[in-house]
Amino acid sequence: MVDGLRLPLAVLRRRSEPRTVVSDVLFDDLRVGDVVVVDGRVALDLEAEARGSDVVVSGTVRAAWTGTCRRCLAEVVGDVDLAVREVLAHDPDGQFGDGPSGDAYPLAEDEADLEPVVRDAVLLALPLSPLCGEACDGPDPERFPTRSPTGPGSEQDGPAGGDPRWAALDVLRDAGEAIGDDGS
Ligand SMILES: [Zn+2]
Repeated sequence: MVDGLRLPLAVLRRRSEPRTVVSDVLFDDLRVGDVVVVDGRVALDLEAEARGSDVVVSGTVRAAWTGTCRRCLAEVVGDVDLAVREVLAHDPDGQFGDGPSGDAYPLAEDEADLEPVVRDAVLLALPLSPLCGEACDGPDPERFPTRSPTGPGSEQDGPAGGDPRWAALDVLRDAGEAIGDDGS
C-alpha cells in the first residue's frame, strides 16, 4: 500500500476543480526482470477529477531506473516520463467491456486508489532488455561479435556495393531512369 494515493470520493465530488497529486511516492518492488526503479521512487504530477460516477486521472509520471545491459552486463540507467490518462469506475467491466484497452480501473465505494494506475504505467514503460548504448559491442566483440563483421551500413549499400550479381540490375535501372527522363 502506498500512502497519499487514496483519494476520498466525497472530497473529489464536492470540489469543482480537480484534485492535484504532486509528490514523490515510494513503491515497493517496481521492477521488470533486473530493471528496477531507483528507490522505488516515482514523481507524480496528476489530477483526479470526478466525472459522473467515475474518476478520471491524468497527468505525468516520472521515474529513474537502473538495469544491466543485455550485451555487456554493464549498469545502465535511464528514466521514464509518461503521460497517463485513466478512468476509475465502480463497475469497470460493465462500462468498458469491449476490450482490454478500454478497461477502467476499479473504484472503491468511498475512495479512488491511484496506486495501480501509477504502478501499471511505470511497469509498462520499463525496458525489457536495456542496452548501454546502440553501439554496444558486448563483453568480447572479437570472439562474440554482435554486429555484422563488414561493419554498419553494408546492408544498406545494396547494388552500389559492387556485388557483380547486381551489376546487370544496375544497368537496367540506369536505362529505366534515362527513359523516364526523356519522357518528361
Ligand atoms: Zn553494453
